[in-house]
Amino acid sequence: MLILANPATLGSAFAVLLALALLLLIGFGALLARDVAILSRLLRGLRRHHETLPIRNRLLLPGMRGLGEEVLAALRTQRAERERRINAAAADRALVERLPDPLLKLDPAGNLLWRNAAAQSGFGPETAALLRHPELRGAMSEVAQHALPVRRSLVLAVPVPRDLDITVIPVGGPVYLLISDRTRERSIDKMRADFVANSSHELRTPLASLIGFIETLRGPAADDMEAQRRFLGIMAEQAQRMQRVIADLLSLSRIEISEHQPPEGRLLLPPLLAQIAAGMEPMLHAAAANLQLGIPADLPAVAGDADQLAQVFTNLLDNAIKYGRRGGTIRLTADRAGGDQRFEPNGILISVADEGPGIPREHIPRLTERFYRIDKGRSRAVGGTGLGLAIVKHVVNRHRGRLRIDSVEGEGTVFTVWLPTPPP
Ligand code: ADP
Repeated sequence: MLILANPATLGSAFAVLLALALLLLIGFGALLARDVAILSRLLRGLRRHHETLPIRNRLLLPGMRGLGEEVLAALRTQRAERERRINAAAADRALVERLPDPLLKLDPAGNLLWRNAAAQSGFGPETAALLRHPELRGAMSEVAQHALPVRRSLVLAVPVPRDLDITVIPVGGPVYLLISDRTRERSIDKMRADFVANSSHELRTPLASLIGFIETLRGPAADDMEAQRRFLGIMAEQAQRMQRVIADLLSLSRIEISEHQPPEGRLLLPPLLAQIAAGMEPMLHAAAANLQLGIPADLPAVAGDADQLAQVFTNLLDNAIKYGRRGGTIRLTADRAGGDQRFEPNGILISVADEGPGIPREHIPRLTERFYRIDKGRSRAVGGTGLGLAIVKHVVNRHRGRLRIDSVEGEGTVFTVWLPTPPP
């Protein structure tokens, strides 16, 4: 059958086809625009970490769905990797932060960039002295030349001498400074040697005298009751002296071991001082001395070790009674340091003043040395060990405080202890 094409019919069929194609195109375009909009919303949401429905539930065009899924998968992998790296870095930082040894990060010029908690607590105000130390500067320039870790030992002199082993480790531009504090080990070594030397020296005399008396009691004085009574009295005194020397040497060693670590406890001085003063009653009575207290009740707390500070003020009062004037007055006073130009204002001053004969100027700098006594015989006669002021000095050092001795011959002596008050 032959269909004759009428040009008018052909034209309208073509127009219909064209309109259909146009409609299809518009529809497809609208779908494409919708999917692109949804995809971009999804991506934006994903970047802000919002959870999204699976792509296939949202996108209608199969090509867009494929593209969307690929983009989303790539983004998710990237995000997971970034999170893994952040977590790993946080774990590294936490580890370094909690490292028991001090760790500092310095720029190549030696300026502090960062430090961990151990460095913060172990080297507060001393950091500047540490960073200026010639051994550290030497190690830094060696590291700059060879880019290899360098290890050195140094002594940091302030506020108490500390033996440190430092390792400077280069990491590209900046360097890490790892510190191990050897003070404790070295002071234990030194103390062992000192303890043996001092104690054997100080104990030899009373021991020799004890042995002498024992021989006398066994031989010539075996039947002499009167001599026996007298000798036993002297022997008891010598033995007690030896006991006191040993007790003082042991407490000195204990203080020295902890000297580089300031005490952490807080304590109020007025009750402590009142308690110590009350404990001195029998000694004061024996010396017919009088103790005056001047201690405001509202003094701020100090960072301190109560037992060690009690030892400090007991020793100072004990000395004031032993070396002060018989029948004289001893003053125990405490106050805020603010008004006294000779001391830093943020602290408390505690003074023990006596009316004794005073101390000749040349002896003052040496009084805190172990076993240093102005008059050995006098010290022995009053039961001294020569260690009281050494203990005072080491406890005050541990508290990062100051000890000052002022004396006017013929008038008396004032021992002043300055203790820092922690910031509120
Ligand atoms: P000791 O056990 O001999 O008293 P210290 O270390 O306490 O040892 O004192 C050392 C020396 O300092 C004493 O032997 C004494 O000579 C002198 N000294 C201490 N305190 C006073 C004081 N308040 N007045 C005069 N001299 C003192």
